[in-house]
Amino acid sequence: MPEIEEQIKLLVALQDLDLMIKEARDTDMSSEMKQMGFKLDGIAELQEARVNLAKRIKPQLLNRYERLAKSYGRAVVPVTGNLCFGCFVTLPTSYPSLKTKNSLLSCENCGRILYFP
Ligand SMILES: [Zn+2]
Repeated sequence: MPEIEEQIKLLVALQDLDLMIKEARDTDMSSEMKQMGFKLDGIAELQEARVNLAKRIKPQLLNRYERLAKSYGRAVVPVTGNLCFGCFVTLPTSYPSLKTKNSLLSCENCGRILYFP
């Protein structure tokens, strides 16, 4: 598997973890105190998994992800039917796919990192 493809898979997994952590935190905010202990343990486990995953991602790529995630929530989005799934702008049909171009692509409209599922 090309390295960039591997990196994107890791980023997507990292994003899933981030969304789960966020969701767990939001739930904790509104839940009762006695439930919090248990749920916070769950968050700690998720965060540990996140740290381990982040170590396998190149720092440059990770930085870019963190910046995008701050602005958008979802930083890595799939391309489906030539649409950026982040901003729903149609990408040029000439847009290279990951399979043909071994580099990281971003949406030219919103800047999110793109992948081809
Ligand atoms: Zn976009």
